Amino acid sequence: MIYSDFQGMKLSRLGFGCMRFASDPETGEIDQEKVNKMFDLAIQAGVNYFDTAYPYLNGKSELAMAEALKKYPRESYYIADKFPGHSLPGPVDNIALFNRSLEKCNTDYFDFYLLHNITEWSIKIYESSEYHIIDDMIKMKEEGKIRHFGFSFHGGTKLLEDVLTRYEGVFEFVQIQCNYLDWTLQDAKKKYDIITKHGLGVWVMEPCRGGKLAKLSEANHAKLAQYPEASDASYAFRFLQGFENIKVVLSGMNEVEQVEDNLRTFEKYNPLTDEEKNTLFDIAEGMKAGVPCTACRYCCAGCPMGLDIPYLLECYNDYKYAVSITPGMRIDGLDEDKKPAACIQCGQCAHACPQGIKVPEILDELARMYADAPKWAVTAKSRGEAIRKDLNME
Ligand code: SF4
Ligand code: SF4
Repeated sequence: MIYSDFQGMKLSRLGFGCMRFASDPETGEIDQEKVNKMFDLAIQAGVNYFDTAYPYLNGKSELAMAEALKKYPRESYYIADKFPGHSLPGPVDNIALFNRSLEKCNTDYFDFYLLHNITEWSIKIYESSEYHIIDDMIKMKEEGKIRHFGFSFHGGTKLLEDVLTRYEGVFEFVQIQCNYLDWTLQDAKKKYDIITKHGLGVWVMEPCRGGKLAKLSEANHAKLAQYPEASDASYAFRFLQGFENIKVVLSGMNEVEQVEDNLRTFEKYNPLTDEEKNTLFDIAEGMKAGVPCTACRYCCAGCPMGLDIPYLLECYNDYKYAVSITPGMRIDGLDEDKKPAACIQCGQCAHACPQGIKVPEILDELARMYADAPKWAVTAKSRGEAIRKDLNME
């Protein structure tokens, strides 16, 4: 196993993500035997980092992780958990919720603790004085119940820079979605640079983009035939090995074979050659389906509605790759008069755009996509109800 150094700790570069354990589709019961087997294999090969979150697998991930770890000495592994500020039904007793996670994880401290899923929308909750989440978590750190404090992030680069500047000295690491596709699609390169500039560690989630980079199309897979034979996923992981400040790469493993393959990839340091990297970037370009906005902002000054056009186009590109909740959450974070539907179709931006992007048409399409896409508010409602029940708030 290859390791990274973080504040004197030796963290396995491969972290075990606990959000995809196999479970019974009807009862939701997790296949604990399989989880135990996967953990045993990973631990024997040197994995020492396990990442869960309060809402994963309807609250069952924390329990399954704790069960699989209980035979190992507590000091032999690191646990990461997350505070679900983005799922709260309203202000709650944050400390009680935090303690509930400790209890479920069978521990009295978290080595790593994150604010879950900061976006332009959820930051308003995390920073709200009514919710006082950050203050409460700082208290938990002062009491030694959080050893290292960070956040997972799904917003844009501007918000990332703002948060790291506002909270200089508070956070120690940031978990971002990073892989060779999102390197440009979700600006992961810029995010990596921002976090590194602030002196924090980079943690990676979605290294294979929800499995899509682990199973390439036949045509894309054929482009790798000229290189040593290995799984598609191994190329995605080796891409990440090339960045020194990426301390932990989380893989949500749910099959024994997947664990074995990942362990082979992380057995030794073997970053991609430039040629291999360029092939992956070429594959990534072919997978994108959005518009080639370079965020030059030439279009913004003349917009009578003051829309943040490149921000909206980032959301559009994300939706075009795959419909998910994340771009919708980012649009939810905007005032009504800054959402795509506020565009009056004047056409100024299209004339200003050196890339020839037909912005008014794109924003019209984006407004429709946003209206039709799944809404975070719906997911958050059921999660909020589960939290109320868990905290006996009825
Ligand atoms: S078309 Fe829409 S986005 Fe473009 S300048 Fe006019 S109002 Fe702004
Ligand atoms: S001018 Fe074109 S490329 Fe530049 S930010 Fe606007 S839409 Fe993007």
